[in-house]
Amino acid sequence: MARYTGPVCKICRREGLKLFLKGDRCFTPKCAVEPNRKPYPPGQHTQRRRKVSEYGIQLREKNKARFMYGVLERQFRRHFAEAERRAGSTGENLLRLLEMRLDNVVFRLGFAESRAQARQLVTHGHITVNGRKLNIPSAEVKIGQVIGVRPRSRQLEYFKTLAELLKRRSVPEWLSLDVENMSGRVLTAPNRSDIDANLQEQLIVEFYSR
Ligand code: SF4
Repeated sequence: MARYTGPVCKICRREGLKLFLKGDRCFTPKCAVEPNRKPYPPGQHTQRRRKVSEYGIQLREKNKARFMYGVLERQFRRHFAEAERRAGSTGENLLRLLEMRLDNVVFRLGFAESRAQARQLVTHGHITVNGRKLNIPSAEVKIGQVIGVRPRSRQLEYFKTLAELLKRRSVPEWLSLDVENMSGRVLTAPNRSDIDANLQEQLIVEFYSR
């Protein structure tokens, strides 16, 4: 279960927008892409204007999605192949598959402040699906499944604090949150309009269709 472990603010600077990879810090003036910090790509000569090719635009969009959901290339390709296999629009299928990954659902339910943290909660065995521990971040959740916190883990300080924070958090329409039981249910598969991601999925499809 490999994952990217390098500096993440550089990724946002490269893409030129906030990808919200660091939780709380992303909402403060310390965020690296804020105008008072470094709102230009990393590297020595990157402040010069350069013409970006069509391929470059598609590549950037694909990498943006990959970093946003914390997926490495091989797994992303696998998601894309699955999206292509399913009926309907490949781009939308791809985003739906990414949204329905267990780590993303844990993040969307507000159990974690970033997808990276959600991934850690899953791999450390704190998360259950339909009452059974599931420690695979890429697992695809199904409609009707209940995602919760393992009873033993609820005694941890992190989850005790979280119980208070959850009261103030809202979840997307395709999920429901039960604050008392610290669990959430998948009500339906998300539509494109439910997916709050600044992505042009068509460019990703074009990238893989070259
Ligand atoms: Fe990106 Fe968050 Fe870093 Fe800002 S603080 S650059 S949004 S990871």
